[in-house]
Amino acid sequence: MEYRKYGKTNLKISVLTLGAMRISSDEADEARRATLERAERERNAMATIRRAMELGINHIDTAPAYGNSERLVGLALKELGRDKFHVTTKIRVQPSRDEALRQIDECLTRLQTDHIDILDLHGINTPDLLETAVRNDGCLRAAQEAVTDGRVGHLGFSSHGGPDLIVRAMETGLFSVASFHYWWTHQRNELAVLRAGELGIGVLIISPAEKGGLLFKPTAELAQVCEPFEPLALTHKWLLSHRPITTLTVGASCPAEFDSHLRALDDDIAALSAEESAALQRWLQAEKEALGDTRCAICYKCMPCPRRVAIPEIMRLRNLLRTFGMTEFGRLRYNLLGHGDHWFPGEKADRCDRCGECLPLCPERLKIPDLLADAHALLEGEDRKRLWEKR
Ligand code: SF4
Ligand code: SF4
Repeated sequence: MEYRKYGKTNLKISVLTLGAMRISSDEADEARRATLERAERERNAMATIRRAMELGINHIDTAPAYGNSERLVGLALKELGRDKFHVTTKIRVQPSRDEALRQIDECLTRLQTDHIDILDLHGINTPDLLETAVRNDGCLRAAQEAVTDGRVGHLGFSSHGGPDLIVRAMETGLFSVASFHYWWTHQRNELAVLRAGELGIGVLIISPAEKGGLLFKPTAELAQVCEPFEPLALTHKWLLSHRPITTLTVGASCPAEFDSHLRALDDDIAALSAEESAALQRWLQAEKEALGDTRCAICYKCMPCPRRVAIPEIMRLRNLLRTFGMTEFGRLRYNLLGHGDHWFPGEKADRCDRCGECLPLCPERLKIPDLLADAHALLEGEDRKRLWEKR
């Protein structure tokens, strides 16, 4: 396992982080939840955390919003030793200092510890939330007080937003680290990665394997294009070749789920080899050949849509489905649209009323309404909720 200095903190953390949302016995996916009794699920969570430790993973990312994840992490810290992991947890962005202080206390209780290594302000996803996050009498004040009295080591934030918002949050100078989305299949936040490097802010990439394309179970078409490499290992290595990126979350729900992630670390991870770069070029070429003049560059220049259609995300899913047959991934993501609030904003393609406003904005001159209709026909299914909304 390789370790990197985490931004402006004094911590060296592993390049893989245990993302503890899916160890939660409330939040384990439905198939697993149906087959595992509660006690068994807790034993499974403990075994997963122990396996992370054995592999050299020394950073756990949890949150009150992830079901009983913090409680399980607390049990593990007690059993395995508090010094085995650096722990990041989160508090909601909110205007009340008192409420935020109460939440910090509750986090400490559930985690059975007297200190949190990194406290993130959770979900700076919109300009309004950024404004609330950084006002001097709300959650930031509470978090800073907790740093002063030693209950918290360092402050960070997480965001599901775009590069401008993330850069603005980083440029406040208030945060040592940041967590956000950046995947081979969705590189919108490249600017934020680069700016983090300039500012010395550590970057944790959220969910590159799952949200990046269910890459731990690639379709045969995708696997073939990437050969001799595995898509997951290849894209992990691509991420870790970015100097500002410190760590990637691994959302393991059982001990065996670390294996495919570990294969990314078999070789030197500081830079891609010529063969790996060639495999990624084949990936791009496959998209170009399969999609021709219907390929979306996911540039976001068509946004915002007056009907709130999530054009770039829908087009990303269509790109992947039409090129690599990634139907399962596409449907998982697509059917979250419409009720994701600021965590996964936007509406499905059937909200498009063909007003045409997006058409002159698209540098690829795509027939956006037609492509959206195609995507909807391919992807529409039963509406889904995000994991932590299932409770
Ligand atoms: S044509 Fe459809 S997708 Fe484009 S701006 Fe109008 S409603 Fe939005
Ligand atoms: S402007 Fe065109 S290429 Fe860019 S995200 Fe929108 S549809 Fe895709």
